[in-house]
Amino acid sequence: MNPPTGPSHFIRDIILEDMKTGKFGGRVHTRFPPEPNGYLHIGHAKSICLNFGLAAEFGGKTNLRFDDTNPEKEETEYVDSIMETVRWLGFDWEDRCFYASDYFGQLYEWGLQLIRSGQAYVCDLTADEVRQYRGTLTEPGKPSPWRGRSVEENLDLFQRMKAGEFPDGSRTLRAKIDMASPNLNMRDPVMYRILHAEHHRTGDAWCIYPMYDFAHGQSDSIERITHSICTLEFEDHRPLYDWYVEQLGIYHPQQIEFDRLNLTYTLLSKRKLLTLVQEGHVRGWDDPRMPTLAGIKRRGFTPEAIRNFCGAIGVSKTNGIIELSLLEHHVREDLNRRAARVMAVIRPLRVVIDNYPEGQVEEMEAVNNPEDASMGVRKVPFSRVLYIEQEDFREDPPKQYYRLSPGREVRLRYGYFITCRSAVKNEKGEVVEIHCTYDPETRGGNAPDGRKVKSTIHWVSAAHAVDAEVRLYDTLFACENPSETKEGEDFTANLNPHSLEILRGAKLEPSLANAPVESRYQFERLGYFCVDPDSTPGNLVFNRTLALRDTWARIESRAQGAPRKKP
Ligand code: ATP
Ligand code: MG
Repeated sequence: MNPPTGPSHFIRDIILEDMKTGKFGGRVHTRFPPEPNGYLHIGHAKSICLNFGLAAEFGGKTNLRFDDTNPEKEETEYVDSIMETVRWLGFDWEDRCFYASDYFGQLYEWGLQLIRSGQAYVCDLTADEVRQYRGTLTEPGKPSPWRGRSVEENLDLFQRMKAGEFPDGSRTLRAKIDMASPNLNMRDPVMYRILHAEHHRTGDAWCIYPMYDFAHGQSDSIERITHSICTLEFEDHRPLYDWYVEQLGIYHPQQIEFDRLNLTYTLLSKRKLLTLVQEGHVRGWDDPRMPTLAGIKRRGFTPEAIRNFCGAIGVSKTNGIIELSLLEHHVREDLNRRAARVMAVIRPLRVVIDNYPEGQVEEMEAVNNPEDASMGVRKVPFSRVLYIEQEDFREDPPKQYYRLSPGREVRLRYGYFITCRSAVKNEKGEVVEIHCTYDPETRGGNAPDGRKVKSTIHWVSAAHAVDAEVRLYDTLFACENPSETKEGEDFTANLNPHSLEILRGAKLEPSLANAPVESRYQFERLGYFCVDPDSTPGNLVFNRTLALRDTWARIESRAQGAPRKKP
């Protein structure tokens, strides 16, 4: 094994110590256990990177395990998308994809075992009654009137539960632990419930289903997981996790809890994300505004950037909130390295260069990526009629506006200096075209007489331009903490009404004509963009991944050593 190199944190320290003491015989075997009830989101990426990353660092293995104990909410569509996403992030479970439902037979046997040892009983209380009997944090619970059933009666009833003799909700199998435990999870937790529901894998083979707590630790045990890493809300479940594996006398993995990822302007709950999809607030699970990894991918974020982000945020024992701008910072950093630069005009304004010969076309040489010389150069056609951005012209320029305005000279990127001579307006008084002259001596962007211009703008030759639709995004929610709501409102009240802007008739340089779906570019001065799968031949659709401005870098330079977490 190579010496460990990953970022240091308390879970890694625990593993280092276990390696030293030989606790698991020098093995590291983790698992990523999604419930297939929705698409994975950026929070899951943290867990995926942690589980797969730690195992890889210590020469170990990671299983993918579907925690499919909840047939009513689970679907094969979700299983497929989860697999695709984990692979996209760059991780490989090899031949170790498992399902908790594979263990239903074994879990049932273990249920019988705990009945035989007097540690489980069939309870006839309704769900509501179970809740009432459980007590509160300050009051102990009351024993169920069914707690004293004989082993024989319990065995008989549990077998008949399995055989389908009883209706949903009429009975449960419960562990007999301690109704006065300060930990509510230990007050005779439910192990099995009756649910006559079709399961996406086992069909109608079962009408009783194990609860999460009765399935998770034992699944870990069956797979001989060493470190069962989960989020902090399971800390109070750990005594129960330990209790089951100890009472059953089976191999005992170690559960370790870490902080879940929370991000500003973002909701990370599959239930709420499902609501957004079902109520049509977004176009689907992979809408580029969604924090799902499918959405993030479609938006143009790279797996490398997500992995870097997950490494940078670290792992801790207390929950906090990470700035969305930190994620964006990592995306920009990665795209800056790899995205080819191109010129595209998303809100076109026609420019006619009156003294440029009609019919003449020059091929201007442009650099593909100043960060990476190996990406080479390309030719961009220049001609008499061009498009520039509407915002690069002002008839009445305010102070410090150095782009085009009547009489003002600017540089066209990789082209010439041009000077604006006049503007043509429509009947509404809007500028629809401007007329300029160019200085033939300035080809390539410098004047032989040494005169300077204060700005450089991008452009696209009208005759050569490729048309495209461009989708600009803002945060899906308008406030930093979208789950904070006013009375009587739900989280959808916090949606940002301006999260999507669609621009039709953008003009791109011709090198983009055959840009494949998912390819990523920097449109000079405008941001990073990628080709959306909605594109069809001759009708390209681009998503803006991010604008160029990096607010995180700004925050960081403003306050050196700025904390990543908000208090
Ligand atoms: P959600 O609340 O979004 O439905 P979940 O915890 O129910 O999430 P699971 O499918 O059970 O979703 O999660 C699989 C794994 O991913 C679990 O180990 C869980 O702890 C982890 N996980 C889920 N959300 C986050 C998050 N925001 N940050 C880190 N890990 C997470
Ligand atoms: Mg869950």
